[in-house]
Amino acid sequence: MIFQLSKKIEKICNHLLIKENLYTTELSNKAINDNEISQWINELINIQAGYPTFNVEFEDRPVSLIPILKIQDKREYYEKQHNLGFRGEILQHLQEITFYINGSENGNNEYFKQTTFPLKDCQNLDGSKILSFIKNSRSVLLNTVNLVGNIFLYPAFEQLIIDIAYFSVQCAIHVPIQDLIDNLSQLKTIHWPEYVRFNLLVGNVFDVSLIRDLDLPFSITVFVFSENDHIELSTIFEDISENHSINFVPLYNNHNLSFFESNIFIDENDLDTMDLTKNDIFMRQALNITDFGKLTVMPDETVYANVNNPPLGTIDNSTYSLVYKEFMGGKSWLKIRDQSPCTECLYQWLCPSPSNYEIAIGKPNLCHVK
Ligand code: SF4
Repeated sequence: MIFQLSKKIEKICNHLLIKENLYTTELSNKAINDNEISQWINELINIQAGYPTFNVEFEDRPVSLIPILKIQDKREYYEKQHNLGFRGEILQHLQEITFYINGSENGNNEYFKQTTFPLKDCQNLDGSKILSFIKNSRSVLLNTVNLVGNIFLYPAFEQLIIDIAYFSVQCAIHVPIQDLIDNLSQLKTIHWPEYVRFNLLVGNVFDVSLIRDLDLPFSITVFVFSENDHIELSTIFEDISENHSINFVPLYNNHNLSFFESNIFIDENDLDTMDLTKNDIFMRQALNITDFGKLTVMPDETVYANVNNPPLGTIDNSTYSLVYKEFMGGKSWLKIRDQSPCTECLYQWLCPSPSNYEIAIGKPNLCHVK
């Protein structure tokens, strides 16, 4: 509810904001009979954000606890844990690791800065180092390992997958559709462990009948650069969209800003109709909802919390030291909307955290609000 903050209303709001008042305030008869105040109260009642009760019952009045952000995820807290030798609590924030295992002819050396996208040809990441990195990262919350590249060109990839399955984490293989089609016969002969699922990366129209009967758990990510891409590519999946999840992911290519402005940038209407829980809002105040809990390992063995920021170290460092470094001085996991113009905006904690698209486009925000 958006309202004008007149002097009279401001006085009531300030009183409501004192946490000891537990979201209550006392109104005199004069205030209740004031046109402006009573209209404002009625608006609150209409959206079920409050209600009046009689002063005689004030002793037993209903109260509401003001939600206050638990500041456990702040740097000082983890520094203290580290100094006390409590390492487990820091490491347990690591939930997902992405390994760029090699490159693909169908890759690109820019788009990985926006989303999970294979690189063009490059070296193989050492399999034994991948396994020991996962082993050292294991905590109750590590739940996903992503492998990105052309798995079919990776030496002894079947053994790598079997070894990863041993850790009982979900293993998602992100592979360009053309690489998969080129290796369909090989793909069908392999007994994939149950923890493996595929994410097929699509950028062009292709013959969907080739994958229609694939006996594998797979989802599809479709990259779009324009509205036409979206129209053209969404029709080809009509047959299989019931059984497989299909996600459309926009990519910025330096020439399609207007596509982003029309379809990706948010406006007041999007924000006013966004369905957020209190936890969602608290998360946005404390951490980056996209990057938090994730590490990415590149083929040159460097490790990042976000590939757009400097590396935290290499695959040879202990996972604990990398995660601790990110908590102490990193620029990704705790990157929130605390920069202008968002700091002067009503929607500061309702908007999604800053994303890679802002970096690619070179803007501090992706909205039509400010
Ligand atoms: S200015 Fe920032 S906080 Fe406000 S709507 Fe835009 S992105 Fe969101």
